[in-house]
Amino acid sequence: MISLKGTKLNSVINGSCPVCQNKSMYKEPNPYAISKLFEMHERCSSCNTKFKMEPSFFYGAMYVSYPVGIIFAAIAFVLSYLVFGLSLITTYIVIVIEMVLLLPIIIRLSRNIWINVFLNYKKDITQNGKT
Ligand SMILES: [Zn+2]
Repeated sequence: MISLKGTKLNSVINGSCPVCQNKSMYKEPNPYAISKLFEMHERCSSCNTKFKMEPSFFYGAMYVSYPVGIIFAAIAFVLSYLVFGLSLITTYIVIVIEMVLLLPIIIRLSRNIWINVFLNYKKDITQNGKT
């Protein structure tokens, strides 16, 4: 199996710290625990990276969530309309239901992508944040 460790894809998919990729950024790993959806650790317990670099840092993730949502909607469209041959109106309903069901995942993916724009993986980072 190919290891994704060290790639941004690894951090984006797992929600792990973008710098060391050892620990999750989230207090609750399951995005469907809705009340804890936005609860994140202040700092990485492994490398001490501060996740919320500035106040309302993660508002920027909203801009990421649009293209992420469109990608998911496009996949649903291709599957429903082109592969399964459903009518346009049924396809539309499928997309709306999909968007609602996947919202927690889209929100987390968007945060993960957003923070990975600003922070890069460091292979040999230590507890105090020095390489
Ligand atoms: Zn870390």
